[in-house]
Amino acid sequence: MTDKPVILLRTPLFYGARDKLDALFTVYEYGMKITPEIAPQIKALVGDGQARITAEDMDQFPNLEIIAQYAVGFDGIDLEGAKKRNIRVSNTPGVLTEDVADMAVALFLTLKRNIIQNDKLIRAGGWVNKEEIPLSHSASNLDVGVFGLGRIGEAIAERLAPMSKSISYCTRHKKDVAWAYYDNIADLAKAVDVLVLAAPGTAETKGLVNKDVLEALGSKGVLINIARGSLVDEDALIEALEKGIIAGAGLDVFAHEPKVPAGLTQSSKVVLQPHLGSATVETRTTMAHLVIDNLLAFFAGKPLITPVI
Ligand code: NAP
Repeated sequence: MTDKPVILLRTPLFYGARDKLDALFTVYEYGMKITPEIAPQIKALVGDGQARITAEDMDQFPNLEIIAQYAVGFDGIDLEGAKKRNIRVSNTPGVLTEDVADMAVALFLTLKRNIIQNDKLIRAGGWVNKEEIPLSHSASNLDVGVFGLGRIGEAIAERLAPMSKSISYCTRHKKDVAWAYYDNIADLAKAVDVLVLAAPGTAETKGLVNKDVLEALGSKGVLINIARGSLVDEDALIEALEKGIIAGAGLDVFAHEPKVPAGLTQSSKVVLQPHLGSATVETRTTMAHLVIDNLLAFFAGKPLITPVI
């Protein structure tokens, strides 16, 4: 037994503040054997954007008091189950906004300008006759639509606005911004060349990007997803890419991570990243400190800094 609160890290990642975490808490890690003696000692779980924490998972820890997410998204946590047990939940909003927005722009430019194909071509000694290298497509002067204009969506819109013909957005509540508002994703998709997803993974957003939305986006349209894989009907996306219903996709998130279907990995029309939107040294360090600060506040009986519930 120890005086330090006992926590279980459900993520192997905890960049830049692991020493501090170890100094302040007794830490068990994901993958370690949690014996019946240890389980009742665990007061806090730390999960990441991919972690699934069900009510059943919580029930393994009879004295669990807080889940501190090392992510802004909390779609993997059964919030109702947590509420029933009076378990608090915190996340890391705001501190990762800029890096995730950068990732959306990077996916967009990489996709439009064939950066990956042409990098591979040079490395394979294929730069012989420049005329044979296919032209890419302009990323400027396009109509851009952002689905979910929160912290990250707005940062993406601000980045793309100076180079785009127009910015439009869709949220449930119209915002006080100059950009054009759509109250549904199908109309937004129809109006734009680039559809960027930046809304949370919820029951309401699940599978919203379906065959109809992809058809509305159209054969010159591209989809960029840095939100959650659950927003997209992945089978419909693969079919849309294969049939030329849309031109391409830049994806940081997938429906069943870390599994990515062959229809995507084998497509030359996509740019893929393994859910790394916030994964920079700087941001992951700041996120780790925010997780620790939430845990410290909680165990000191103070309000959570960034509470979810
Ligand atoms: P946020 O500030 O809460 O913004 C969410 C936005 O989505 C709001 O504008 C909200 O507006 C809108 N929204 C919510 N439900 C909607 C619906 N059913 N239809 C239309 N719009 C809806 O969150 P954030 O910090 O920008 O983060 C957004 C998401 O990005 C996170 O939830 C997370 O899943 C994802 N993310 C991914 C990564 C990565 O590594 N790829 C990293 C961080 C975050 P209304 O409430 O008005 O609808």
